[in-house]
Amino acid sequence: MHGTRILEEADRLMTVCNSCRYCEGLCAVFPAMEMRRAFSDGDLNYLANLCHGCGACYTDCQFSPPHQFNVNVPKTLAVARAESYAAYAWPRAFAGAFARNGLIISLIAALSMAVFILGFAAFNDRQILLGVQTGPGAFYKLMPHNSMATLFGAAFLYAMVALVMGVRAFWRDIGEPVGSRTDARSLWQAMRDAGELHYLDGGGVGCVNEDERPNDRRKIFHHLTFYGFALCFAATCIATLYHYLLAREAPYAWWDLPVVLGTLGGFGLLVGPAGLLTEKWKRDPALVDKQSFGMDVAFLAMLFLTGLTGMALLLWRETPAMGPLLALHLGVVFALFITMPYGKFVHGIYRFAALVRYARERRMTGHWAAE
Ligand code: SF4
Ligand code: SF4
Repeated sequence: MHGTRILEEADRLMTVCNSCRYCEGLCAVFPAMEMRRAFSDGDLNYLANLCHGCGACYTDCQFSPPHQFNVNVPKTLAVARAESYAAYAWPRAFAGAFARNGLIISLIAALSMAVFILGFAAFNDRQILLGVQTGPGAFYKLMPHNSMATLFGAAFLYAMVALVMGVRAFWRDIGEPVGSRTDARSLWQAMRDAGELHYLDGGGVGCVNEDERPNDRRKIFHHLTFYGFALCFAATCIATLYHYLLAREAPYAWWDLPVVLGTLGGFGLLVGPAGLLTEKWKRDPALVDKQSFGMDVAFLAMLFLTGLTGMALLLWRETPAMGPLLALHLGVVFALFITMPYGKFVHGIYRFAALVRYARERRMTGHWAAE
């Protein structure tokens, strides 16, 4: 007996697949499945988070609908994956609300924070909002650096604590003791698999779309999104070091490292999420988990808005639009931080943890030593 209906269905499918094994070369899910004869809830959540949703095993399957076995692994694992995000979220109550109204909650949080920052600036000096601010420290005329750092530091810290609690629950549930050290080779293998999106290629041919012609567009847009986010994060970290170690205040010149990294990252966050949203509309409806559609769209929309407001701020930072644009950009980033633990962002973290476990068990059972 399993905890939910979808885990019952996942168990049924994995039992069918374990007898068939036709898809074992497509991704990590099938080799991981073959190492088991029975599936606990944690095993099924592990397999669900190993799946990258490429759709190849649906197109290739001789038992997919209308066959009476009704085998649809990508959709079943997508639903199980989305339910696992809610099950491991901390505090769990927030996850349900976000799953139902993710985009609305994110937009309300972003606009509330933008209005708060604008109100803060107007309360201190209305002229700041209307005038042109340039040179080092221009951003902090809107809100002092220490107030900004406290506000965003608290939101970031909250997101980190909630994410750690979530991944801790996931790690324990999939059968790994909390606090156990993983070996460096498995960690490196998982980093490579995640960095290359090794399993988002349908066994080498690409992701399946509505017309059943595989291509690599989802993988490319995913890369742009991931590396765009990573570059923006690196730009923020370097700007923080500039501020505290070199006493250099933002905004920085076009050629300065935080701006160069932020611009490249902003480009990735514009093109990647827009491309993934477009690809989402084109997917075969048989593969899509409609329940998590809103959550996926909310995450991609917030990443796109982060890129859009950041690039707009860069372009118009020396005009009177700087104040409203900075408030809007900070509002979007704040909303992104506080909704991270309850939305699609967690898929990257749980998938990485699942890849670490996969690398470990392949090594421990001698599969990769022999390959
Ligand atoms: S998805 Fe279908 S073809 Fe692939 S292993 Fe399962 S039952 Fe076999
Ligand atoms: S959808 Fe792709 S990644 Fe997921 S189980 Fe099927 S082949 Fe593997």
